[in-house]
Amino acid sequence: MAGGNTLVLAETVLDKVLQPYNCRSFWTVGIRDLAVPERDFFHHSMPRAKTAVVVGHHVTTREEWKWYVSASRGAHCAADDHARNVSLHLEEALLRQGFPTEIVPYPGESGLQLRFVAQSAGAGEIAKNAFLLHPQWGPWIHLRVLATQALTKNKPRRVISVCNNCGACVSACPAGAIEDDTFNGLKCRQFRKARGEYHPVGPKRELRYCEICADICPIGSKPD
Ligand code: SF4
Ligand code: SF4
Repeated sequence: MAGGNTLVLAETVLDKVLQPYNCRSFWTVGIRDLAVPERDFFHHSMPRAKTAVVVGHHVTTREEWKWYVSASRGAHCAADDHARNVSLHLEEALLRQGFPTEIVPYPGESGLQLRFVAQSAGAGEIAKNAFLLHPQWGPWIHLRVLATQALTKNKPRRVISVCNNCGACVSACPAGAIEDDTFNGLKCRQFRKARGEYHPVGPKRELRYCEICADICPIGSKPD
């Protein structure tokens, strides 16, 4: 690892790496500035990591956020394929600079809630409907996170305010999972499970997830 360097230099390089992708952004946050659950995740799984790099991809079509299951690839969608590709480019750029870097495994049960890392990095606000709301893209953002041994000079960000508390998602949720101040993940999951959402359907083995609370949200530009 290049001693004494910081991500400030790397961020210029990372910006260059990402220039061809107009559908993305990235943010960085020091591991020590994360909330306890996320900090603990990195301390246990990637103890030498100093910085989390959050990649956000703007989802602009419905198709790219449809998940399919295949024997060779497990669960996958085009938005995630794209965000993973971008992350691989970032990983290569950081490795070239001498900073050991890993992409946090996703999807699956890594134990890390990517949206909480993204919120701490300043990418948006976790809203009533439990989605991360990006100020321009609303809930239509797909996340990936890398952990690197490079340091970032970025200071901890204050959570930006994005949700306007309109209450549309509270009324629209068929499971009653969104209340004024809390999100009941268990109710949401039970409703989705009862609809069979976790079982692939059709010849393309598609996973059809409930998106009612994202669709009703007035923040950001909806996919085509
Ligand atoms: S995903 Fe569906 S069930 Fe879950 S909170 Fe949103 S609207 Fe309710
Ligand atoms: S629908 Fe309204 S209350 Fe719900 S997350 Fe979006 S802006 Fe916030």
